[in-house]
Amino acid sequence: MTCHLGDFPEYAAMRRELSDRESDLSRQRGTARRAEAVRSLEALKPGDVIRVPGGRRAGLAVILDPGLTMRTEGPSPLVLTIGKQVKRLSAADFPVPVEPVERLRIPKGFNPRAPKDRANLVATLHAKIGDRDLGRPMRVRDHDADTAMTRGSTPGTPEWEIAELRRKLRAHPCHGCDEREDHARWAERYHKLLRETEGLRRRVESRSHVIARTFDRVCGVLDQLGYLDGETVTPEGRRLSQLYTELDLLTSECLRAGIWEDLDPAELAACVSSLVFESRQADDARPPKIPAGAARESLAAMVRIFAELEDIERDHGLSFIREPDFGFAWAAFRWAKGHSLDAVLTDGDLAAGDFVRWVKQLLDLLDQIGKAAPRGGKVRQNAAKAIDALRRGVVAYSSVA
Ligand SMILES: [Zn+2]
Repeated sequence: MTCHLGDFPEYAAMRRELSDRESDLSRQRGTARRAEAVRSLEALKPGDVIRVPGGRRAGLAVILDPGLTMRTEGPSPLVLTIGKQVKRLSAADFPVPVEPVERLRIPKGFNPRAPKDRANLVATLHAKIGDRDLGRPMRVRDHDADTAMTRGSTPGTPEWEIAELRRKLRAHPCHGCDEREDHARWAERYHKLLRETEGLRRRVESRSHVIARTFDRVCGVLDQLGYLDGETVTPEGRRLSQLYTELDLLTSECLRAGIWEDLDPAELAACVSSLVFESRQADDARPPKIPAGAARESLAAMVRIFAELEDIERDHGLSFIREPDFGFAWAAFRWAKGHSLDAVLTDGDLAAGDFVRWVKQLLDLLDQIGKAAPRGGKVRQNAAKAIDALRRGVVAYSSVA
């Protein structure tokens, strides 16, 4: 769109403005013309002879009833056509205003259903108009052209402004360029892309508002739980930032509450597995098998903490958290205890590949927990021991990266 004759973007903007103005005007005119057509129909009286301007019923017709009572759809005149048919017309049959070309007297007691009455009225019509007009289409005065002509020379009217724009366009240096239409195609393409980009930007901005609002809500939750103190990240908050799991908040709260302190390494693996594992089918009716004793108590405590966090999130208009899933606890426990892969897989409903995938995620979280757990506590050591116990056989083999 670079033109050696002048500022083509400026010229293109003028062209676009012109075409926008023209389509606005034509829309306005269409509306005005339809309104005018309706007004002309409302003025019709029984006996008026009109020429239906277009469509299947084009041609001469006598108004039997102007049809003004059914006002919702506009007037719907009942007419007798020159072909002796009685038809109900609608505003759609009149894209342009209609004017009576003649007037007949409709005889008293005229029955539109009686063929004889219809034939007589059409005969009267023929007698009245003779040969006049019949073969020729009625000359429809081009109101639009006339109006445009007068209004075009009246400053301030849309027609005048359009004429002005056309004049300016022709006077623009780029108008005379041989490659003008070529430039214009590039300009249109540029404009189209610009519009698309603006649309995308607006969408991104509205998304950013959502992100900002969600961020504020998350900060509200973290503040309530003591991970943030206003704008400051507390030591608890720094510990939370070391956890990279979907259930990081639940993990951190479990560490904080010390509910894993009395567990042995295999039991710890079982409990932590509930934070990474997700059953394929949530509606599995069978309750999953879980290790007895301390692990069972810890899992119950995890569910209580989960419920508290869910309430807090709900109070802040969030719902990120999901319930711990015990579906892998038994497999994790047995694998950490040294049972064979066969035994672990036969007992559960797991494919070997899935088993390895879940153990790897468990290892990852245990590693994070080991680092985030309070110094001097047992969780720190037990997490490391659990990792050693779990990373063996097929898991260790497929871990070699
Ligand atoms: Zn050029």
